[in-house]
Amino acid sequence: MNLLEAKQVEVAYGGIRAVQGVDLSVASGELVCLIGANGAGKTTTLRALCGMTPAAAGEVWFDGKRIDRLPAHEHVRLGIAHVPEGRGIFGRLTVRENLLLGAYLRRDREGIRRDQEHVYELFPRLAERQRQSAGTLSGGEQQMLAIGRALMARPRLLLLDEPSMGLAPILVQKIFEIIRRISKEGVTLLLVEQNAKLALEVSDRAYVLESGRVALTGPAAELANNPQVRAAYLGG
Ligand code: ATP
Repeated sequence: MNLLEAKQVEVAYGGIRAVQGVDLSVASGELVCLIGANGAGKTTTLRALCGMTPAAAGEVWFDGKRIDRLPAHEHVRLGIAHVPEGRGIFGRLTVRENLLLGAYLRRDREGIRRDQEHVYELFPRLAERQRQSAGTLSGGEQQMLAIGRALMARPRLLLLDEPSMGLAPILVQKIFEIIRRISKEGVTLLLVEQNAKLALEVSDRAYVLESGRVALTGPAAELANNPQVRAAYLGG
């Protein structure tokens, strides 16, 4: 069954129709990516799915419940975690405090403690820096912290916006390894990425967005071999 389903979603900024009738679904356990050029509407689509930007038309369903009219905090309560572009961590709080904020809706102290250990195991750098203020972390470490914080909510669906943005190539590889691992551990993921090559490598299925519309969709491995996709997004 589809955990997430978007039907004919539209988003407009003033007169600009950034997203123009997008249909998209993510099944439970799947890793799906949304790729496309700069300004194609990837971030806007993701924001509409988690209630950060209101959809002007269309519907979004999560686990059989219509959610497109709900405020963002209700999405969180339902189990949708969003890691925004630019990460949104709290620079003055420590790494540990940022992580615990991700678990603010939970009361199971033992589970929270275990998940925190798990995040430190996924990202040993964060364990080393748990008492340091998050603002002193490098860009890559902040990205790890943002993902770790989202995982602390035990999300049913994790939405990642451009996790590789601004990172050195070695860290990009690392982040994608972690994404693959999180997916294998059973978290359902929707990933927005400029790095189409790596996104297609780790994903089960993909959507290609062009000018606010879904231009192509299918199994990621198929799209990676599609001549059109290769020419436009994979450098030939
Ligand atoms: P990028 O990879 O550059 O983030 P994207 O595919 O995620 O690109 P969006 O950021 O969703 O694309 O932008 C889609 C369109 O909406 C673009 O034309 C952009 O200029 C416009 N847009 C995005 N955010 C706003 C905003 N807050 N106000 C007005 N227009 C916006």
